[in-house]
Amino acid sequence: MSKPTLLLWINGQRTRSASSRIADVTNPAQGEVIRHVPLANREDIDCAVAAAKAAFPGWRDTPPLRRSRILNKFRELLEANRAELAQLASEEHGKTLEDAAGSVQRGIEVVEFAVGAPHLLKGEHAENVGRGVDCHSVLQPIGVCTGITPFNFPAMVPMWMFPIAIACGNTFVLKPSEKVPSCTLRMAELFKEAGLPDGVFNVVPGDKEAVDALLAHPDVRAVSFVGSTPIAKYIYETAAHNGKRVQALGGAKNHAVVLPDAPLEFTADAIMGAAYGSAGERCMAISAVVAVGDIADSLVATLKEKAEKLVVGPGNRKGVDMGPVISAPHRDKILGFIDSGVAQGAKLVTDGRGIKVDGYERGYFVGPTLFDHVSTSMDIYRNEIFGPVLIVLRAASLEEAIQLVNSNPYANGTAIFTASGMAARRFQNEIEVGMVGINVPIPVPMAFFSFGGWKASLFGDLHMHGMEGVNFYTRTKAVTTRWPEVGDSKVSTLVMPTHG
Ligand code: NAD
Repeated sequence: MSKPTLLLWINGQRTRSASSRIADVTNPAQGEVIRHVPLANREDIDCAVAAAKAAFPGWRDTPPLRRSRILNKFRELLEANRAELAQLASEEHGKTLEDAAGSVQRGIEVVEFAVGAPHLLKGEHAENVGRGVDCHSVLQPIGVCTGITPFNFPAMVPMWMFPIAIACGNTFVLKPSEKVPSCTLRMAELFKEAGLPDGVFNVVPGDKEAVDALLAHPDVRAVSFVGSTPIAKYIYETAAHNGKRVQALGGAKNHAVVLPDAPLEFTADAIMGAAYGSAGERCMAISAVVAVGDIADSLVATLKEKAEKLVVGPGNRKGVDMGPVISAPHRDKILGFIDSGVAQGAKLVTDGRGIKVDGYERGYFVGPTLFDHVSTSMDIYRNEIFGPVLIVLRAASLEEAIQLVNSNPYANGTAIFTASGMAARRFQNEIEVGMVGINVPIPVPMAFFSFGGWKASLFGDLHMHGMEGVNFYTRTKAVTTRWPEVGDSKVSTLVMPTHG
């Protein structure tokens, strides 16, 4: 039976793509195509950017308070439709419904933050910077902004971007991952229902062709990207070369450093969720444990026991801890990494290869996998695997562990598990990573802080959401004012009303 093809969302309506290229959208648990998505071409991008450009002057001049009311209505609609959005995310990505609902909630929190636009957009004022001279700054929108997002958070990562850009008075063209397009298309409908004027938010699924058209478009002023490091670097270089403001968040290899005084059960439970939740397809997943000192053997034994109890199955089945990975090629890539770990001499403690899920024989499942005695030269350490593969390295001291983490080119998130405040404080101070957890395995900052890594996990200067998001989506203008005394100035006689 032929499957439906989605439409683009341009200028407040579902719009047929001018492109003849389409991609399959699959349900990874079933391993089946569930719908098709058009891959937008240059003509589609021109059309979406033109709609956003036309909507900009009206939206820019809409008072922030009015914009904020529309965002608040959008937030209510997101909450009312949370289950549907979670279902779409789970169906196309494979993650459990609970996990999907949690990520929709984190996205909603960014909208809550953006509702504060009237307060967030207040500038600064200094009186009497010179005799009779005042100075104030205003935060103005920059124009048409674009977002390019990855497959692993179909709702949340796009919501790191467009609610804040739009709250600040910009208009937006979103290019979601072609693997998970449905959530953002549905959100666009909800935003319109909330009262958003046509053209302010547009959604054009596509691949490299659409991305390149956005990066080259003269009317696009700013580019926000989240995805893998090689593409983040490409986006940063190309967009910057074309004179655009750009923030490009890349991949990760997140370490959990476990000190000998860490409570074993608590730490192992925390690492379970962080390593295997969402089948390891999270940019903040813990994929490497650095066991310090004599805790290593008991930690590995506890991790093994817990990993082997995880229930693998379709994301919409109750009691399932871990769903499939996104696609057959991605599953095969993960299996290739597991083979390489064995070949390069790591100790395979729990083997997730060859897992079968009854009734879902064609699904893209990989079971929880655990390696011990991994060294930094092995491929399973040097690469982001982005699957349910946890590796354990060993270090003799906190100092050695910090050095190991700091030598890794990625620097998105990290965590330390310890009962020692002094050790945690030293770690927090010396670690060269953007987001740090102390006995918190996935230290994703709340919406009113900013999210982003360092080093090869970020190209650009500003992180997403929080005040750094507001700064990214606005330009600051400083205004210096002097009012001559009436009567003293020739100008005053021109501007003062005359009586009689
Ligand atoms: P990806 O880099 O393959 O794709 C991201 C986006 O770029 C998609 O919209 C895709 O269509 C587009 N794209 C892909 N190839 C392109 C090319 N050659 N030219 C132009 N555009 C291209 O990433 P993915 O597989 O969708 O997502 C997983 C990656 O995202 C992982 O590396 C993960 O760590 C990373 N990620 C990072 C963060 C973060 O905050 N740092 C958050 C989520 C995901």
